[in-house]
Amino acid sequence: MDRLVRFSERVAQGDFRPESAAPGVDELDALLASLNRTADALRTSFESLTAEKNQGATILSSMVEGVAVLDRDLRIEYLNGAFRELLSLPGGSWREYRGRKARGVLEAKRLVKMVKAAMRGKSREREVAVAGRDILARAAPVRPRDPAFEGEGPLAPRDRKRAPVGAVLVLMDVTRLRALERVRRDFVANLSHELKTPIAAIRALVETLIDDQSMRSSNRAHFLSRIRNQSIRLSSLVTDLLTLSRLESSPGDPELGPIDLREPFRAAVQALRPTGEERGIVVHSEVSKSPVRILGDPEALVQLTTNLLDNAIKYTNRGGQVRARLKTENGRALIEVQDTGMGIAPQDQARVFERFYRVDKARSRELGGTGLGLSIVKHIAAIHQGQVLVESSPGIGSTFRASFPVHKDTTS
Ligand code: ADP
Repeated sequence: MDRLVRFSERVAQGDFRPESAAPGVDELDALLASLNRTADALRTSFESLTAEKNQGATILSSMVEGVAVLDRDLRIEYLNGAFRELLSLPGGSWREYRGRKARGVLEAKRLVKMVKAAMRGKSREREVAVAGRDILARAAPVRPRDPAFEGEGPLAPRDRKRAPVGAVLVLMDVTRLRALERVRRDFVANLSHELKTPIAAIRALVETLIDDQSMRSSNRAHFLSRIRNQSIRLSSLVTDLLTLSRLESSPGDPELGPIDLREPFRAAVQALRPTGEERGIVVHSEVSKSPVRILGDPEALVQLTTNLLDNAIKYTNRGGQVRARLKTENGRALIEVQDTGMGIAPQDQARVFERFYRVDKARSRELGGTGLGLSIVKHIAAIHQGQVLVESSPGIGSTFRASFPVHKDTTS
């Protein structure tokens, strides 16, 4: 009997090991066997509860969304790592925040308002700007479940009427998403403007021609040539847009094969040399004696080199020099286009790769620029795991460098 008492006390303290039977006492034996089964069942449910609790904690701590749980008095019960990071809360553990008032922890007043509303039973969704981030926040009441209800899923209708015992606040970082949306909006706005200008010009010129039937033929010729220039502008714009969209539509899966970069490079230099001559600019080229092997798309690389050369020629005055080089340097294939042109001021150097960014709009337009050339260059470099950089001094000249990883042919 004593042993049974000791055993039951042991179980009460969480020691679930079975007790061995004492020989000969049948009824007590049966009782003991039954107690052993109870202890075993208790141990199993105890273990599974602990496992569930750990699983829950692991899931919450590895979530990218910030999660905070607040009690009825708006004190923090729990907040995960992402929550602390999103709101730039200092400290290494959520325990440091446990029991603290939401008001003192959540700097954004809107968040406090949201959890208060949740405590009154009202779910809320808002976007707030905190610590330089755009955060989408959702607050919802936590209502107790009917203890008889087992399992998951939505609350039973009668549970939905129970008074909240706390609130959950979930935060999502939407900064990148909002930035992308802004980029897209700006792009559409810029593009509409870029399209509108030549279309409006063409329309005005055509209307004048129609209205003034007796216009002198030299004037008429002048008007017609302006119309042609504007339509060429429209057509280059559309060509550049199509190139950009082709590049963007298959970013993950470009068709790259082993090539000798000298071929597209030479093709571009040859094609642009006459343009240089027309504008009184000598185009020099220095090409590596040995093959420069990379994984590439030849057509895109002709385009990249063409755009760099075209710019070097456009933004250099008559009598200037353009040097195009192709070499291997520090294990990378390098295309270098250097000019003795107008150069780019330091504050503009990073921005020239943005779509439609032009330092001197009038000059770019006059020369048939679309403002998309360098963004195409950047894209093409990116799909080749490459990068493009600029070094420039206003009044002295610019050097653009595009570099790519060299391809080591493993088949030979
Ligand atoms: P664009 O069609 O206007 O040339 P890009 O995207 O090719 O468009 O270039 C963006 C801007 O960067 C140009 O408008 C010009 O202001 C500047 N730029 C590009 N290349 C050069 C260069 N080699 N020298 C000076 N400025 C340059």
